[in-house]
Amino acid sequence: MPLYEKYIRRVEPYVPGEQPNFPDMIKLNTNENPYPPSPEVQKAIDSCSLSSLRLYPDPTSHKLNKAIANRYGLKESQVFTGVGSDDVIAMCFLTFFNSDKPLLFPDITYAFYPVWAEMLRIPYTLIPLNDDFEIVPEDYCRENGGIIFPNPNAPTGALLPLECIESIIKSNPDSIIMVDEAYIDFGGQSAVSLIEKYDNLIVVQTFSKSRALAGMRIGYAMGNEKLIKALNDVKYSFNSYTMNRQVIEAGAAAVRDEEYFQSIVNKIISTRERAKKEFTALGFKFKDSMSNFLFVTHPEWKAKDLFEALKEKHIFVRYLRGKRTDNYLRITIGTDEEMDTLFEFLRNYKG
Ligand code: PMP
Repeated sequence: MPLYEKYIRRVEPYVPGEQPNFPDMIKLNTNENPYPPSPEVQKAIDSCSLSSLRLYPDPTSHKLNKAIANRYGLKESQVFTGVGSDDVIAMCFLTFFNSDKPLLFPDITYAFYPVWAEMLRIPYTLIPLNDDFEIVPEDYCRENGGIIFPNPNAPTGALLPLECIESIIKSNPDSIIMVDEAYIDFGGQSAVSLIEKYDNLIVVQTFSKSRALAGMRIGYAMGNEKLIKALNDVKYSFNSYTMNRQVIEAGAAAVRDEEYFQSIVNKIISTRERAKKEFTALGFKFKDSMSNFLFVTHPEWKAKDLFEALKEKHIFVRYLRGKRTDNYLRITIGTDEEMDTLFEFLRNYKG
């Protein structure tokens, strides 16, 4: 073995959900929004002339950051944007979690967290969810070098009330607490309201779900100015121009169109509530979800077999292997029509 092999960083990468491309498919496997983004986004993209692409974009992505800051009643200096929340969270891991003490996150959670921790050599400890798949705030009262969890949690969809989040922050004044709110717009209460009160809080959100812009790749972190400055310093030491011209325009337009945003979010919530009734009638069990997906299990059917059977019909859902989640499927909420096709299939499924 040549010596250089020894110095190559070897990592076990995160495996994103499949992106199949069949004209007749029903795609319920990566928690995308079934509706198109705001029509304002099209106009914003069209406003970028071909010749403007000659020039580098604004490295501060001022227009986008300002629009986000206005939406949440923050200063622009309290907002950091990146290439999807995956990029933002990775930057946060690099910036904030440099302690010898372990980073804490739940055992059943977003599968990217252990991948970043391993890659960046951050020690970490998994905190088991209780038997009801819930985060227990008291379990996070222990020595740590930081804490991260999604709210609602993924893939369970379970929402932690804001008081519980505050109790975790309060009991850890010496750690940075990151709340990954990828799915918060589907019925949860955001921790953004706690930013003024706690300097050690970072809230991360994304345009990929509620704003129907997964293809644009926009994520953002909100927190106190000192933390955001530290994040920017790391970003500028890595790649100054993360947000391109079209992304900056499209993102700003999307976040300003509040009415459209509310309308698609409300449609998804109402389909989700109807889907809960349908899944229950079919004998499925699931935790109540406040996200745009349900994490379901059936007492008589094997999740993997059902996953394969659905796939044959070009209905894509997510089967996530895992010790405690081996017999579960995570199913994104699609349009009413898409969900009806899924339920029709399930009513005739024999297992
Ligand atoms: N956090 C959670 C909990 C997620 O499920 C996802 C989506 N896979 C992300 C972050 C990243 O989403 P994006 O990079 O598209 O913003």
